[in-house]
Amino acid sequence: MSRERYVVLVGDRENRYSINALVAALEVTGALEHVRLAVTTYAKAPELIRSLMNERVLVAASLLTTQLVRKLRLVREVVRASKEVGALSMVGGPHASGDPYGSLLSLGFDAAVIGDGEAVINDVIEAYFWGGDPCSVNGVACLEGDRVRLRGRGFVPELDPWPSFPLRLVRKFGPIEVGRGCPYACRYCAVSFTFSARMRHRGVESIIEHVERMRSSGLRDIRFITPNALAYGSPDGRARNLDAVQSLLEALQPYRAGGMRVFLGSFPSEVRPEHLDEEAATLLRTYVDNKRIIIGAQTGSDELLKRIGRGHTAEDALAAVEAAVAAGFRAEVDYIFGLPGETEEDVDATIEHMREVIDLGGRVHAHAFMPLPGTPYSFAPPGKVPEKVRRFLIKYAGRGAVYGQWEEQERLAEGIARLRDEGTIIITPWRARQALETARSM
Ligand code: SF4
Repeated sequence: MSRERYVVLVGDRENRYSINALVAALEVTGALEHVRLAVTTYAKAPELIRSLMNERVLVAASLLTTQLVRKLRLVREVVRASKEVGALSMVGGPHASGDPYGSLLSLGFDAAVIGDGEAVINDVIEAYFWGGDPCSVNGVACLEGDRVRLRGRGFVPELDPWPSFPLRLVRKFGPIEVGRGCPYACRYCAVSFTFSARMRHRGVESIIEHVERMRSSGLRDIRFITPNALAYGSPDGRARNLDAVQSLLEALQPYRAGGMRVFLGSFPSEVRPEHLDEEAATLLRTYVDNKRIIIGAQTGSDELLKRIGRGHTAEDALAAVEAAVAAGFRAEVDYIFGLPGETEEDVDATIEHMREVIDLGGRVHAHAFMPLPGTPYSFAPPGKVPEKVRRFLIKYAGRGAVYGQWEEQERLAEGIARLRDEGTIIITPWRARQALETARSM
C-alpha cells in the first residue's frame, strides 16, 4: 500500500499569521493538490504526528523565542514524535532565523529555515517527497556530519505572488501583509535580521484580491501588517510616501461604503514618529476607521535613541502625538525599558517624555527589553524595568494612561537569558562548535 504524503504545520495563536502565509504558499503553487495538509497546535501536534506512523510526514513548526521560553517541553515533544515516526522535522519563524544552531543542535530539529518561508517550504516539500535533498534547499540549515551547514536565507523579492492568507480553497483569514523587512535594523528588534533589511511592499491589486476574498466570506475588518505604515510604497522603505498610502486607502473606500472597516496605523501596522504630522494624521482620519494610532517612541532619550539606531528624535514622537490627537485619534506610544546601556539620565529623560505624552492626551504602552537571538543585543542581559519607571507606570496605569505586559516580558526576558546561558539557545558558530564538541565527548 502506498504511503500518503502529509505536511503537518505546527503553530499556536502567536504564529497564526505565519501559518496563514504558509498555507497560502502551498495553495498558490498547487502543492496542496499533491500532499495532505494538517494544521495543529504544539499541544496537539505530538499525538497527531504519532497517528501518522505509516505515512510519509514533513513536520514544519513556526516558532518565536518567547514561545520557546513558555513551551520548551512541548517543542521537544514535537521533535520526539517526529523522530518516532521517521518524519522530517523543520522549524522556521523568527526563532529559527535568529538561532539556527540552537534549533538544530539543542532542540533537535532536522532543518531550520532562515528568513522568508514561502518559497522554502515548497522547495523542501518537493525535495523531501520527490527524491531530492531538503538540506540542499536555499534558506535551509542542517546538521551535516559534524558541522552545521547554512545555505543562505529564504527571500521572496516580491510579496504579490505570496498571499498573506489562502485566497482560494482554505478558509483562513488575518491581516494583509503590505510591507515586509525593515531598513532601520534597530538593535533590539528581530525584524530586519529575520526578514532582511530590504523592504518589500504588496501592490494595491494584490491587496484588493485579499479584500475581495474577505468580503465574499462575510468578513468586515481589514487590517494590515507592516513595520512602517506611512512608508507604504516607498522604494527604500524609509521615506514617507503619502501618495502611495492615499492610493491604497482610496482603493479601499468602496469597501468601506459597503460596510467594511479599514485599520491602518494601529497594531500591527504602526507608524514611525517622524512620519506622522498634521498632513499624515488628517489623511488617515479621512480614510481609516481605527480610533487609535500606535507610535513607536521606545525611549525619551535622544542619546539612547541614537545608540539603539532608531533614526528619529524624542521630539519627533511628541510632535507625532500632538498631530494624532489634533486629528481626533487616541495616540498610544510604545516604550521599551531596560535596554542595554540605559543610564540614569536616559531613564529620567524617558519619565519626563512619558509625562509630556500623557499631558498631550496620549497613552503609554510599556514594554521590557528582551534579548532576542539574531539581534545585535542577543547576548545582552535581560531587560529590567528601573524602579522609578515601575512606580511611574503603576501610578499612571491606575489612571488609564499606561498599559502593557512589561512584567510578563521581564519574566520572558529572564527565560530567554536562562536558555541562552544553559546552551538551549546557541546563536553563534563558535558556541555551536563548543556544543558539538561537548556532545561528541559524552
Ligand atoms: S523597531 Fe521598527 S523600525 Fe526598528 S527595525 Fe524593528 S520594525 Fe524596523
